[in-house]
Amino acid sequence: MKKILVLNSGSTTVKYQLFLMDGQKHQVLAKGMAERIGISGSSVSMSVDENEKLVKEVELHNHIEAIKEVLNMLLSGPIKSVEEIDAVGHRMGHGGEYFDKSVVIDEDVLDKAREAGDLLPLHGAAFLYGIDAITELLPKVKQVATFDSSFHQSMKKEAFLYAIPLEQYEKHKIRRYGFHGTSHKYVAEEAAKMLGYKGKFISCHLGGGASVTAIEDGKSVDTSMGFTPMAGMIMGTRCGDIDPYIPLHIMKTQNKTADEVNAMLNKESGWCGLTRGYTDLRDIEEQYLEGNQDAITAVDVYVHALIKYIGAYMAVLGGVDAIIFTAGIGENSSFIRKKVCERLKFLGIELNEEANHLRGQATEITTPSSKVKVLVIPTNEELMIAEDTYALLHDNVVLMEKAS
Ligand code: ADP
Repeated sequence: MKKILVLNSGSTTVKYQLFLMDGQKHQVLAKGMAERIGISGSSVSMSVDENEKLVKEVELHNHIEAIKEVLNMLLSGPIKSVEEIDAVGHRMGHGGEYFDKSVVIDEDVLDKAREAGDLLPLHGAAFLYGIDAITELLPKVKQVATFDSSFHQSMKKEAFLYAIPLEQYEKHKIRRYGFHGTSHKYVAEEAAKMLGYKGKFISCHLGGGASVTAIEDGKSVDTSMGFTPMAGMIMGTRCGDIDPYIPLHIMKTQNKTADEVNAMLNKESGWCGLTRGYTDLRDIEEQYLEGNQDAITAVDVYVHALIKYIGAYMAVLGGVDAIIFTAGIGENSSFIRKKVCERLKFLGIELNEEANHLRGQATEITTPSSKVKVLVIPTNEELMIAEDTYALLHDNVVLMEKAS
């Protein structure tokens, strides 16, 4: 049995989960987050079960202070000494072309992760703060990096190359990378367990960020996010696919800077742009039902974009066995799922209305006679990171035993 701490470090937050891993089995011993790091009103929280949540308001100037407080909180119950933590798994943003799987962190990995992080438009470095903090606070513990882009390294050139001068790829590394990989991989593995085969899956990770991935035999074949997470599906505040000339046109004709246009496309677009300010689908569904025309149009645009991706990926895969919905919207919005399934009726998809309203568990929401299965699978990126970390820890233990 091993205790694995999983950290997801953002620019002002650190989300964490402490897992007890034992072979295929796992248990979450504690989870929580440090919030508003470097901003006034910061705090650390921890839950050991559904009903109990500890919150401590404490000034957190940086990620080291935040993670120190997280460890202190863990010491108040789930662990007696920090030495009980066998390894730390970090969620990382961008692995560039360097990493197609999780790796044990060393200086070389850090250099490459730093370089790849620079490809991200926002907060490329935030993921690294968590590593720096653990290196300082727990210098002996093994650390593992799991990259959001790794799963998509299986894409072939035909899927990842953009039709711009080749030197942009060769010299400047501009290509499609794709993100949400840990989530797509997790739900594809869960789907394979549910169905008993790997097959051809289209996985729709629809949360604040959103991406769609074509998966064959457990491998990513194509994905909607691109060089950055801005591409592809419409998201909470990101625009998704637009004509590449639009930003240039806005800069030229509206006298805006690159930073202003970046902010517009990253933070004021997507659901937010189309509804004049709503980013949460719960509010948009409410507005839709009240007859708000902007909300109705935004839902139509979203469903239209999703249908287009599903259709395109069916063609890429040469068919589809299952469509998977996951993340905040995918897991919770029976409303969006129903609209998508209705549009896909021509494929022989038959929605099971009752199953479509179940929440919180992996569910097949189509009838047994449906030609294509539609599955709702709650994602669990933290567990995937814990499993990868455990596997890397475990490998090493075996190697060391063999050597002795
Ligand atoms: P993030 O990408 O920020 O991690 P999540 O995967 O948690 O986001 O998804 C958050 C989004 O999920 C919310 O902004 C909201 O639009 C949507 N969502 C969450 N719960 C519901 C619900 N019950 N009904 C509809 N949408 C929901």
